[in-house]
Amino acid sequence: MVVSSATIDSLLKEGEQYVPPKEFTARALVKDDSLYRDADKDFEKFWAGQAEGLHWIRKWDKVLDWQEPFAKWFPGGKLNVSENCLDRHLTDGRRNKAAIVWEGEPGDKKVFTYHQLWREVNKFANVLKALGVKRGDRVTIYMPMIPELPIAMLACSRIGAIHSVIFGGFSSKAVHDRVLDAESSVVVTADYGYRRGGLVALKKAVDEGIADLSIVKHVVVYKRASGDCAMKEGRDAWWDDLMAKADDWYPPEPMDATDPLFILYTSGTTGKPKGIVHSTGGYLVGVASTHKLIFDIHEDDFYWCTADIGWVTGHSYIVYGPLANGATSFMYEGSPDFPKQDRWWKLVEEYGITIMYTAPTAIRACMRWGDEWPQGHDLSSLRLLGTVGEPINPEAWRWYYRTIGGSRCPVVDTWWQTETGMILITPLPGISTLKPGSAVLPFPGVSAEVVDETGAVAGVNKGGYLVITKPWPAMLMTIFKDPERYKATYWSQIKGKYFTGDGCRMDGDGFFWLMGRIDDVINLSGHRVGTMEVESALVSHSQVAEAAVVGKPDPLKGQVLVAYVVLKSGNHRSPELVGELKKHVRAEIGPIAVPETIYITDKLPKTRSGKIMRRVIRALVSGQEIGDTTTLEDPGAVEEVRKWLAAVEGKAP
Ligand code: ATP
Ligand code: MG
Repeated sequence: MVVSSATIDSLLKEGEQYVPPKEFTARALVKDDSLYRDADKDFEKFWAGQAEGLHWIRKWDKVLDWQEPFAKWFPGGKLNVSENCLDRHLTDGRRNKAAIVWEGEPGDKKVFTYHQLWREVNKFANVLKALGVKRGDRVTIYMPMIPELPIAMLACSRIGAIHSVIFGGFSSKAVHDRVLDAESSVVVTADYGYRRGGLVALKKAVDEGIADLSIVKHVVVYKRASGDCAMKEGRDAWWDDLMAKADDWYPPEPMDATDPLFILYTSGTTGKPKGIVHSTGGYLVGVASTHKLIFDIHEDDFYWCTADIGWVTGHSYIVYGPLANGATSFMYEGSPDFPKQDRWWKLVEEYGITIMYTAPTAIRACMRWGDEWPQGHDLSSLRLLGTVGEPINPEAWRWYYRTIGGSRCPVVDTWWQTETGMILITPLPGISTLKPGSAVLPFPGVSAEVVDETGAVAGVNKGGYLVITKPWPAMLMTIFKDPERYKATYWSQIKGKYFTGDGCRMDGDGFFWLMGRIDDVINLSGHRVGTMEVESALVSHSQVAEAAVVGKPDPLKGQVLVAYVVLKSGNHRSPELVGELKKHVRAEIGPIAVPETIYITDKLPKTRSGKIMRRVIRALVSGQEIGDTTTLEDPGAVEEVRKWLAAVEGKAP
């Protein structure tokens, strides 16, 4: 990517602040800022201290071997991830503690204690071994959100195989491309998954995806539903049949800290899917320490991350972080509005969830559905809330804080990426003052800056590019089979610094305000404006639930803004409302940010991870060709967006 823009102007300023409640701080794991100071003094020593919390088969020789841009964390060290997540909890008092508590969309329930999960993982490790999987081989996993998904992942880690999990909502094409790139000889799947009351035919998508791939020798199928499921003789086998014969002990393979643990292909909303490779030792140190300190994990917490394990959030903060910490991790299979829009709040109430981690897109959806859904449930067990995935609009933050958190739970807005493996910019809930819309500060031991295109640090409140200035333990090792692309994508823009691709500004207190992707920053009469800031201003209007804003070329002005707005339930489109929204943006940000056109629509086109497809909307309204549709999981999505645009624009605002 060529970075050519001038400094980004940041127009949105939020003044509000929330200090942590005293009772929260009193019990918090981090009560003062000494961690930041210690880590500042010597970041390698800080990370070594965090690594001490894991079980090492052999201690590392060195904390960090940095041959820019390739980092080796804890070289010489040996450990096994499944042993850290399971075996050691069998003797530390957690043997009979719930590790994974699960509810399926139809309402079926399962609990795995640490001992039970350990047994299943050992058995599946033997299953994989019997199918010929060796250390370093790649295993593709394409499953619904059921406990067998983490069991398969942990079994891979036990034998030293590298897993590649594909989000269960992706198409057979995605399965094809990823199995091929990873060269997997074994695919683990399920017949079906439940979604919104319907069945998703996963095994069928595998059959289509691998039809022409002779590298795949075995497909293991977990039976989740009662529908038909074609099985190919000699290739396919049922999970239960294989597990019934498997021994329940497999000695954990001693892995090098620098061996890869998994590959995760990024969702590809910005480019051709990349196989992001994560390490064993550094990754586990990074996710265990961030999970523990950011979510303030206590022994009795009931922690729920609502992400799908198909995303990095699920890898790091449903599976590896929580289990390494001996926490109880809740998993829910289905969608938040099935059978009704209060399903999540029902789960929080029934299970007594104490910590909830979700995405702004989900928060805005709940906001749109109305307060009556959460208000019909007792949410008083919650003590901490988190968000990830996109910048959170201050309005959505406040709604989450008040309506879900009862104004008593800190909200940790955590910034990170598939590539970073772990949260990098975040509050620490016991000590951080919160400003809605800001991800606050780099985690201790992490160093970030906002710079301009020359690499010079941008001034206070000046927008720029977010870069990470020192290696961090869970950083990606490389892009699978493509180290040149790794260098070019992340290490060629700003010398010696990791280029995140996100716009950001730092305020006078050193707080980081993420502004969305750099591609979503546009030039308006000489000002650089993040479209996310205009969206935020729109969402702060009392009738607006969600907004997407893109730039469109204009013969006179160069660029103008076009906004697509979804209203909260019970509100209706009218020319007056459009006028009012324009006035509102003018008052919130200023005249240059007022969209030329505002369309009111029922929904916005989103990627499978719930992010608004701004790139596709922008390309279509600008009359550009969408260069590379293989970059989208579902090339049909472009057609969908085209239809959506025609329908929206056909209606008078
Ligand atoms: P791809 O890189 O494949 O196009 P993606 O970037 O959406 O997809 P992820 O790695 O899941 O895939 O998302 C990381 C991005 O999400 C960040 O670069 C940032 O743009 C956004 N993001 C995540 N968390 C936050 C946050 N707390 N605040 C602002 N933005 C965030
Ligand atoms: Mg990305």
